[in-house]
Amino acid sequence: METCLNCGEPLKGAFCHVCGQKASTRQINWKTFLEDLPRSIFNLERGFWYTSKELTLRTRSALDGYLSGKRVSFFKPIQYAILGITLYTLLQAYNPLDPPVVEGLREENELYGMGYAVGKLIGDNLKFYWLLGIFLYALPAKLLFRKYNFTEHMVICAYVLGHSALLASLSIPFLSVPIMFNPFIYLLIGIIYFRLFKDPVNPLGTFGAVIGHLFMCVIMYFGLPIVYYYVFN
Ligand SMILES: [Zn+2]
Repeated sequence: METCLNCGEPLKGAFCHVCGQKASTRQINWKTFLEDLPRSIFNLERGFWYTSKELTLRTRSALDGYLSGKRVSFFKPIQYAILGITLYTLLQAYNPLDPPVVEGLREENELYGMGYAVGKLIGDNLKFYWLLGIFLYALPAKLLFRKYNFTEHMVICAYVLGHSALLASLSIPFLSVPIMFNPFIYLLIGIIYFRLFKDPVNPLGTFGAVIGHLFMCVIMYFGLPIVYYYVFN
């Protein structure tokens, strides 16, 4: 009997029923590599476009569907977040319209020095911070929008951060600032949360919760580095 080359389980069907690896595993050489290439790229791209389209047009049914188990067509949440922030960061870093940073300003006064140091701290660890945001932003989200459990809120956060970073990267030609200073990011996060949790009976209540959530996120996002700065300086 044929066994799975990944986990050794006896095979039945086109995929291993234990680990999910394809039953027909071919040797990797130029021929099989080139044959598999278009499908790998196409599948990745299809998952990406499907995810961004669904998150834009059908925010609620897309996320609700994902959380209730319709997952195979979606780009994975953390990967989506990493892709969004990477794209934004790259576009912003290599934007030819970006004016040069005025270095001389930094020691003028203490507040500016602190702001500069904190800004630099966030900037240098941007991806880490943005990914930390997945955890951080899920805390007030769980508090304000009770519907899902905490880990489900982290998944929502990952998609929201990834998607708002992708959409906000369209603003870079007009507004080339690091992601955490881009007001569109916060606007987009707010809009996505509003669409996801909109209570048709009490939309004003949802609006209040969205504003509260954004406020707490910003406090945590900028507060933590400030605390870090004061503790370690
Ligand atoms: Zn297997």
